[in-house]
Amino acid sequence: AKTDSRSDVCFYSRQLKQQIEHTGSLERDLRKALPNREFQLYYQPQVCSDEGDVIGLEALIRWHHPVRGMVSPGEFIPLAEKTGLILGIGDWVLEEACRQAASWRGQGLNIRMAVNISALQFNHTLVDKVRTALDVNQLPPDSLELEITESALVNDLSETRDTLVELKALGVQIALDDFGTGYSSLSYLKTFPLDRLKIDQSFVRDLTTNTESADIALAIINMAHSLNLKVIAEGVETQEQQKFLQGQTCEELQGYLFSKPLPPDEIVSVLMARNSG
Ligand code: C2E
Ligand code: CA
Ligand code: CA
Ligand code: CA
Repeated sequence: AKTDSRSDVCFYSRQLKQQIEHTGSLERDLRKALPNREFQLYYQPQVCSDEGDVIGLEALIRWHHPVRGMVSPGEFIPLAEKTGLILGIGDWVLEEACRQAASWRGQGLNIRMAVNISALQFNHTLVDKVRTALDVNQLPPDSLELEITESALVNDLSETRDTLVELKALGVQIALDDFGTGYSSLSYLKTFPLDRLKIDQSFVRDLTTNTESADIALAIINMAHSLNLKVIAEGVETQEQQKFLQGQTCEELQGYLFSKPLPPDEIVSVLMARNSG
């Protein structure tokens, strides 16, 4: 038994060492990813729940690692946040999404662009960056939507409020992402200038199989409407989920049922096909 536990310890420390080395090299590589142009934005449609027209696109970052291949944002965004690299990456995402939106507008595709903003990016300096991105690309401000999470809103409430008010003064739209999973102090919903709540996909997933999730989704929709906020549901994969959400007057839907996130050239074909019939 003694030798067993000893080899267990060896096994675990070897695993731990590998894990640390893995993270270490991932971090080293992440530092080079921006200068090496290894990031790309994919886009996922946000559709009007009545007509099924695409009215928005969410920009979702992809990392094409030279050796590992595609690394998912679920893996590298937390690392980028821990190391502060998210600031540079986030600037690039904002600029690239606005550049792409302007280019599509030039081709007659007038679609709202939603950009994810990390809690670390969410402070006063964001306002100037957004203003510049809109100016440089001559974008109508209300065609840009910032998706922020509840964690961005809990730090300094009065500073947060100021930043939100300044962003709203620019004319951009603001969505509260992953709603229902965070620090649910509902009082801020009333005082913050938000446009949309995004129901987290964990509730949407179980909507038609679990009455608790259905109740939560309903409660979110009703509360949002009573606060004059619009609602978008993410992670919609089945027609049953779609029907349920339509029936509850959820304005917009997003998920694999309509399209997975796709690179720019491929998403254009989806837009053309969906919005022309
Ligand atoms: P999120 O903002 O909640 O984005 C939704 C995630 O759900 C995306 O994963 C999307 O591909 C995925 N998804 C979309 N439809 C479905 C569906 O029908 N079913 C299921 N199961 N999943 C669906 P992705 O692209 O891997 O991104 C993961 C997370 O990484 C995002 O979650 C967001 O928090 C973060 N992220 C992605 N791009 C950026 C970025 O540019 N900046 C920042 N700060 N974070 C980003
Ligand atoms: Ca999002
Ligand atoms: Ca989300
Ligand atoms: Ca999420």
